[in-house]
Amino acid sequence: MSSADVASSPSTYAGHLSNGDGMAASRAYRPTHPELFEVRFEEGAYNSSLVALRSFKKDEVIAAMTAATPSSQIRYSTVQVSEQSHIELNSDLLYCNHSCSPSVRFDVSTPASEASGRGAWAARAEQDIAKGDVLTFFYPSTEWHMSQPFQCNCGSSQCLGMISGAQHIDAKKLARYFLNAHILRLKEAQLVQAGDAEGARMLVDGRNDVLGRAQPDEQTA
Ligand SMILES: [Zn+2]
Repeated sequence: MSSADVASSPSTYAGHLSNGDGMAASRAYRPTHPELFEVRFEEGAYNSSLVALRSFKKDEVIAAMTAATPSSQIRYSTVQVSEQSHIELNSDLLYCNHSCSPSVRFDVSTPASEASGRGAWAARAEQDIAKGDVLTFFYPSTEWHMSQPFQCNCGSSQCLGMISGAQHIDAKKLARYFLNAHILRLKEAQLVQAGDAEGARMLVDGRNDVLGRAQPDEQTA
């Protein structure tokens, strides 16, 4: 990202200042996407959530991450967008919590456009979403290793329990999910290094679109 982009960035999103304390954040709250979703503030650390204010069709873009800025630190509030890069969202998307059965995916794999130098990053509907639904995404779809692991209590029958990043999750479990390209590459490399080439193939099979790799047909053509 160019220095011009950084210079034009919005100031630090107010919710960051409370370090996860919802009631402290709510006092300074102004919705960033008032027609799309809003934060439901709750007492206690990291209990607030993001709620849809309208319906969304599966795969529809809910919101582009246009306010995002690079972060040199890995924090509870940052999102990993490549092997080395992390961003602050600077929007209410910060309150999109983790679930092991997510309603949203954070797509940070779409290549940056030449013109803007910025990725076409966006939150998209992982399934049909109704007005009033809580918006959640699968943290390990972006995070390889998390700064603040936590015990998940999302209530899903497929709940993975301790969430500490894709690095620590079995490939067979990860394979159920949408995963961003950098997570696929990192897991593939981890499996190959461990001598599990077959597991690596299983994980990336059919994900050429996300990985930006040629389709098998094109390779033989
Ligand atoms: Zn869970």
